[in-house]
Amino acid sequence: MMPTVFVSHGSPALTLESGPSRDFLAGLGKRLGRPRAIVCVSAHWETDDVCVSLDPHPETIHDFHGFPAELYRMRYPAPGDPTLGQRILGLLPGARGVDKRGFDHGVWSPLILMYPDAAIPVVEISVQPRRDAAHHFAVGQALAPLREEGILILGSGAATHNLRELGRGGPHVVEFENWLCEAVTAGRPEDLIRYAELAPHARRNHPTPEHLLSLFAPLGAANGAPGEVLNRVFEYESLSMAAFIWGAAAA
Ligand code: ZN
Repeated sequence: MMPTVFVSHGSPALTLESGPSRDFLAGLGKRLGRPRAIVCVSAHWETDDVCVSLDPHPETIHDFHGFPAELYRMRYPAPGDPTLGQRILGLLPGARGVDKRGFDHGVWSPLILMYPDAAIPVVEISVQPRRDAAHHFAVGQALAPLREEGILILGSGAATHNLRELGRGGPHVVEFENWLCEAVTAGRPEDLIRYAELAPHARRNHPTPEHLLSLFAPLGAANGAPGEVLNRVFEYESLSMAAFIWGAAAA
């Protein structure tokens, strides 16, 4: 039974810089072992309906601006898995298959550190910013059977994500991150689903919801069980790099 994981992917430049978050992601792949395939719900693919990539050879998308040239040369040539994609469409009534879809940096920037050989097939699923956390939790629940087949359900987003406040941390960031980590470790999925009402400073830390919504797929795939918090580090003062793992064997 594979664990499920949420990672804060941070800035695309993380892949170039040394530091604790880069080291953490580089070690996470070893910790998890090698899944048969990875299903990645990325904050950087926003759609109204649930979309599932059926692309057998996804290109690497450089969906960011103003970063060092080296980043635009990076490629993550992992294969897709259209057969798995079709299987997922069967698990998710109403979802739509997309024949051509490259890997956005929500997918490739953590995976290039976690699994640099790019040999494990990856199927990307979109987030629906117009829909709520409960919807994304249900998507995760529907994906749960894949865990028994050695498939990693990975959410890629950010535990806090107010890009206008980069370089300006403060109690509002810490209080929100504390609340989130406590709710994850205590196994309070109902509270997490209602984070927008219950968490302190939720709106300020997530002016738009997409980077947190990707957390609810791995949470749902673990059926809301208590999780473990990894890498409690802030980048640029206000960008939490917290990652969560559910269903991991005790160390
Ligand atoms: Zn992002």
